Amino acid sequence: MSLDLLVRNATLPDGRTGQDIAIADGRIAAIEPGIAAEAGRVIDAGGHLVAPPFVDCHFHMDATLSLGLPRMNVSGTLLEGIALWGELKPLLTFEAVVERALRYCDLAVAHGLLAVRTHVDICDDRLLAVEALLHVKKTVAPYLDLQLVAFPQDGYFRSPTAAANLDRALDLGVDVVGGIPHFERTMADGAASLKALCEIAERRGLLVDIHCDETDDPLSRHIEALAYETQRLGLNGRVAGSHLTSMHSMDNYYVSKLLPLIAEAGVAAIPNPLINITLQGRHDTYPKRRGMTRVPEMRAFGIEIGFGQDCTMDPWYSLGGADMLDVAHMGLHVAQMTAREAMRWCFDAVTVHPARIMHLDGYGLAPGCHGDLVVLQAKDPIEAIRLRANRLFVVRRGRVIAETPARIASLALPGRPAAVDPAAYAPKAG
Ligand SMILES: [Zn+2]
Repeated sequence: MSLDLLVRNATLPDGRTGQDIAIADGRIAAIEPGIAAEAGRVIDAGGHLVAPPFVDCHFHMDATLSLGLPRMNVSGTLLEGIALWGELKPLLTFEAVVERALRYCDLAVAHGLLAVRTHVDICDDRLLAVEALLHVKKTVAPYLDLQLVAFPQDGYFRSPTAAANLDRALDLGVDVVGGIPHFERTMADGAASLKALCEIAERRGLLVDIHCDETDDPLSRHIEALAYETQRLGLNGRVAGSHLTSMHSMDNYYVSKLLPLIAEAGVAAIPNPLINITLQGRHDTYPKRRGMTRVPEMRAFGIEIGFGQDCTMDPWYSLGGADMLDVAHMGLHVAQMTAREAMRWCFDAVTVHPARIMHLDGYGLAPGCHGDLVVLQAKDPIEAIRLRANRLFVVRRGRVIAETPARIASLALPGRPAAVDPAAYAPKAG
């Protein structure tokens, strides 16, 4: 057998050590110790963690890297961010959106992030961002899976042309139906928007991803309507509720009724820890709410959960950097998921879970899956999160598409080691 690539001495996310990974014709041919075969390239993983690529199931690529345009968000608040996006939108050009998105994808690839679901604002009658991101999707397809959500940022009913624009965007090839029920004028309009949007998805055979209840208002209960419409239309397993921050503030008794309904409908949840912790709770004095939705509680009900990044250097968030380990790190802290098993789960929340939410084809680290993987400068998934580990190699379809030298500091201290490898500080027992 002649291989495209052979990765030697890998530790897998499930804890198996000393594994070789063989990739032929762009797919994983075998994972076992001591594979003997010729390969176009051999990588020695040196016992480091080898994982499937990172997946971001919630992003806004039409706004990314626009920080500073047309001016900075000086206050760092959501309100100034919204005002800024309003100023920027009419100034957007096809070329500039494409250029920023491609630059972002370069950064994503460098961090082993090879699949992104991005919302794209369709409340611009030119549909300029839609056209630009459809172009980007095609351009990056050889190295990154981009999935687009038609997102009516200004409200499906509240914005007069949103309904028509959403249909136009889907006709152009946008993959997923989006919505923002808590931004409609009334709770009733919000629920009606979910009915209309889920019916569109059912008719067209598409997935649904709703910005749902991104508020501290405990009475914002659109997730209930979303679960209901999902169940009514048989869309189980095809719908996601993004943010769900109001659940943080809801009455416990109501949540005890709500969670089984979400589980029954097979609606997935997409918290965005970096953004939720910074944008929610802004009307509070002290104690100040965290705002992130109830991750461990949803998990206990078997609800599918993927952590999203939401923003990188845009009007709403000046930080970020296409690093899903940053997202997992924040999610772990905000949800206080410090049990060993829960920390491992946080790694899955930026890899296998979002891949399932996006219905990615051939994703995973198993024979028959695409030959896509990341070699991390860390011993295991918990260590990868702790270190926000360096990505030594990023592989797509059996080809190395990004490399970063190992992060090793040299020390000039008498009587102490000459070099420090942060990954060497891993605990002895797994
Ligand atoms: Zn969002």
